[in-house]
Amino acid sequence: MKLDTLKHKGRRNQLIELLKRKGIHDLNVLHALNEIPRHIFIDSAFEDFAYEDRAFPILSGQTISHPYTVAFQTQLLHVQKGEKVLEIGTGSGYQTAVLVALGAQVYTIERQKELFDFSKNILKKIHFSPKHQIFGDGYQGLPSFAPFDKIIVTAGAPVLPKKLLEQLSVGGVMVIPIGNKEQKMYTILRLDDKNFETLEFGEYQFVPMLEKRELG
Ligand code: SAH
Repeated sequence: MKLDTLKHKGRRNQLIELLKRKGIHDLNVLHALNEIPRHIFIDSAFEDFAYEDRAFPILSGQTISHPYTVAFQTQLLHVQKGEKVLEIGTGSGYQTAVLVALGAQVYTIERQKELFDFSKNILKKIHFSPKHQIFGDGYQGLPSFAPFDKIIVTAGAPVLPKKLLEQLSVGGVMVIPIGNKEQKMYTILRLDDKNFETLEFGEYQFVPMLEKRELG
């Protein structure tokens, strides 16, 4: 496995400073990002750029999100220690590790077999395994483990997935990018059984949230 050297740690510190300048103010989030060696999640060809605020290709034609996007979505989620968090789109596993670092009980779903295997392996190696890692279709959520305090979607959803909304606990928050070519970021707070409060936060670009599993 790639090592986490002083050079990497130094660059990671600089990335944290950049994220602060870009408006990330939640110290728990900044601390969690500083704990996770992002270069381990990406191809060696991009290792030198791992701590720049850039997205990179990962397996199965997917991408690891910009560190700013990961930090921003995580900040919107307001994760408290011990909370049950459902993540849709494990991808490389980087965002998953950040959630584990925040002390959440993480349930994560990935529809690409290759990425499911890759992320499972790497999260285990760095000792940031989530509570449950599932190869499946995130549109279904995980009804047997619901409700969740928080739900984070890291792929662009064409519409708000209803089944996920049903699995959010009262007082819970979902963070989700919605849209086709470009997405807008939304937070959805569950006020009670039937009522939700939706807030909108700027434009982002994600790979699409697709249906059903892909064996690859
Ligand atoms: N958080 C990831 C981002 C990966 S990109 C990271 O930091 O690396 C989004 C991921 O969502 C892709 O891996 C894609 O395969 C996955 N995805 C898309 N639709 C999905 C679905 N319906 N269920 C589960 N995962 C899905």
